[in-house]
Amino acid sequence: MKDTNCLFCKIATGEIPCDKVYEDADTLAFLDIHPVNPGHTLVIPKEHCQNVFETPEEIWNKVMQSVQKVAQAIRTGLPTEDLNIAMNNGTYAGQVVFHAHVHIMPRHAGDGFELWHGKMYAEGEASVIAEKIKKAF
Ligand code: 5GP
Ligand code: ZN
Repeated sequence: MKDTNCLFCKIATGEIPCDKVYEDADTLAFLDIHPVNPGHTLVIPKEHCQNVFETPEEIWNKVMQSVQKVAQAIRTGLPTEDLNIAMNNGTYAGQVVFHAHVHIMPRHAGDGFELWHGKMYAEGEASVIAEKIKKAF
């Protein structure tokens, strides 16, 4: 199903142009318009799903298969050995476009793109947190 107000649905149907790098029956990969580095690619399901929380498992698996294929092609086709694969899910996680997409970002020495900075757990906190997550399955 498409969402007529969704930017990436419009890209999936060809209504809005993109620099496509890969397509199959269920997924599409195209260059991000504001790349971290050249070759920064977004992989999306053609079906409208907001993010990880509402993507059906079957579609999720297809997106992940495409992510791996596209990552291999970026590494083979571009002068990059390393890349980050990331997904923003929800506003506070930095999601701006609410159609599920996985970022594949080529990385180079000294490119200035920083990863997250880890915090410390308080004594005993990690096991409490792990327990809460385990109970939620
Ligand atoms: P988010 O923050 O939602 O994970 O990332 C959305 C990404 O979509 C951003 O990296 C942004 O540069 C990219 N983007 C936004 N609008 C367009 C567009 O019209 N075309 C393409 N190719 N990428 C876009
Ligand atoms: Zn959409």
